[in-house]
Amino acid sequence: MIDTLANPLYRLLGNRLAPEGPEGCLSILIFHRVLATPDPLFPHEATADTFDAHMSLLKAVFNVLPLAEAVERLKTGSLPARAASITFDDGYADNVTIALPILQRHGLPATFFIATAYLDGGRMFNDTVIEAIRRTPHDQLDLNALGLGQHDLGSSEARARAIGQILPKVKPLPPDEREITVARLCDLADCGPLPEDMMMTTNQLRSLHDTGMDIGAHTARHPILAKMDDDAVRKEIAEGKAFLEATVGKRIRLFAYPNGKPGKDYLPEQAAIVRKLGFEGALSTQPGVAVRTSDPFQLPRFTPWSRNAYRFIPSLLGNLATKI
Ligand SMILES: [Zn+2]
Repeated sequence: MIDTLANPLYRLLGNRLAPEGPEGCLSILIFHRVLATPDPLFPHEATADTFDAHMSLLKAVFNVLPLAEAVERLKTGSLPARAASITFDDGYADNVTIALPILQRHGLPATFFIATAYLDGGRMFNDTVIEAIRRTPHDQLDLNALGLGQHDLGSSEARARAIGQILPKVKPLPPDEREITVARLCDLADCGPLPEDMMMTTNQLRSLHDTGMDIGAHTARHPILAKMDDDAVRKEIAEGKAFLEATVGKRIRLFAYPNGKPGKDYLPEQAAIVRKLGFEGALSTQPGVAVRTSDPFQLPRFTPWSRNAYRFIPSLLGNLATKI
């Protein structure tokens, strides 16, 4: 049970840091996965229990709004005090099976940004690497032929470390080369069949939307936009948007940049492409809090970094305090 005695104090502090009206500011939280039980490879990843505790605290201390409404009220200077919105990136099936019932129990809205190419049995490259390294029977893996080094895999910690070293080298490769490299890594790892149910199905996506949750665009194949020309960027974003609109039967208003670090994963000038494609706002992963003068096409987001419930609200208030 979480001690809630500090919540009135947190609300008072929140009122100072995030007042209502034109001086208001919006904390946008970003989540990816919510696991049923702790993953030995990633002990810090959110589980159902921690997500439940965090949502309970968030509801007690912040005023949680649907993101589209919050972005509109940010622009018009009419946010409530302590405004916050919840977002999920990528389209993991556990968002529907695990996070959704928790959000519904707390009566909290969220926006889910979906990379459409991986729906219905697909897998993002990072998960292919993670699941291959998790499953390989080998205690040593020589990936020098792929430029990915040699790795000790003798323990969960060693496997997690190897994944941490491999992913940053694979991530910046062009999408086609990345696919080939990851497929060769799987061959070398002899990992056997990998899971095909990590991402949502289109039926799950539709049912998520039907519960009243909002759906946002996140490209089709989740590329690093900063490395692509304008036509390719336009195509990736438009393809994802069109698929989602056809699937849920509603206009998609918001976009989240894949990976999302400005200047590294997308270029600030690419925000103009997003605007011209008919979106009303876009989100980066730059830490911080959105204020009225923030570029609505590059709104910052805060990643909750601790599973410790006692640190959750202090970390959000700390994020608010760094807005200037
Ligand atoms: Zn993503």
